Amino acid sequence: MIPAQFRYQRANTVEEALAALAEHGDEAKPLAGGHSLLPLMKLRLAAPEVLVDLAPLDELRFVRLDGDTVRIGALTRHHDLHGDGVLREHAPLLAHVAGEVGDQQVRHRGTIGGSLVHADPAADLAAALLACDGTLVARGPRGEREIPATEFFLGPFTTPLEPDELLTEVRLPRQTGRGWAFEKFTRRAIDWAIVGVAVCGQSVGLVNMAGTPLRASATERALASGAPIAEAAELAAEGTSPVDEPHATAEYRRHLARVLTARALEAAAA
Ligand SMILES: Cc1cc2nc3c(=O)[nH]c(=O)nc-3n(C[C@H](O)[C@H](O)[C@H](O)COP(=O)(O)OP(=O)(O)OC[C@H]3O[C@@H](n4cnc5c(N)ncnc54)[C@H](O)[C@@H]3O)c2cc1C
Repeated sequence: MIPAQFRYQRANTVEEALAALAEHGDEAKPLAGGHSLLPLMKLRLAAPEVLVDLAPLDELRFVRLDGDTVRIGALTRHHDLHGDGVLREHAPLLAHVAGEVGDQQVRHRGTIGGSLVHADPAADLAAALLACDGTLVARGPRGEREIPATEFFLGPFTTPLEPDELLTEVRLPRQTGRGWAFEKFTRRAIDWAIVGVAVCGQSVGLVNMAGTPLRASATERALASGAPIAEAAELAAEGTSPVDEPHATAEYRRHLARVLTARALEAAAA
């Protein structure tokens, strides 16, 4: 499997990357860890004429606490998120979920920004960010804008980012006092989730239950009105539209969503 021909351009600063994207428009694609983009290119499902390599941009690799906000650079790798002391203390759900993504090789190359912009409905970090009430920061020729995670996932592999914008940062409130848990059901240990559930306090993010990662809104409303966990978890599949596949039917996924939500809420409350 060989990708279509492309030109390779290495960006040494964010400004250089933005200039390259502005010059080539939707013929260009930023390259982060390459673990989603390169397979698509090999399958010829993506054929950018120019790849703008973000690898040298160390300025987008960080985790820091800024008042009550945890700030994460878009190029921070899953492995580094998982081991980061600040993240483990102030946003432990996200740190834990980063350690559940794929295998060692994927976690050493893949970045949080690449995972979120790729917008795969089966992405673990996207559901965790939804549960954490996160925000994404995009920079482009028109300046910087913040997009709440609840408005970022528009459809399968679709986000509101323009071709000339870069995702630069992810922000989330400190998780202080909010219990958390992540349940991921897979066929093999390193697989993508058949269904996953991320809980932070009374917020619930679902992996692979629709064309986008989404919140289990009916469960959240039930919890907010004082329903017991078992009752609220029974509503976890409401408003979802999971895919029907031979190895996991839609009904099986709805069942999993209910069971995993109950488990995650119980664990978060313990
Ligand atoms: C074998 C395998 C198993 C996996 N298992 C899992 C799993 O269990 N759970 C899971 O959640 N994920 C899994 N993944 C996906 C993994 O998390 C990828 O790392 C991630 O989806 C993409 O990150 P990346 O840095 O490699 O992005 P890339 O592949 O480089 O880019 C992905 C997309 O985002 C764009 N992009 C990247 N960075 C930016 C930026 N800063 N601004 C604007 N656009 C940007 C690119 O142009 C491209 O369109 C798996 C991948 C593989 C190959």
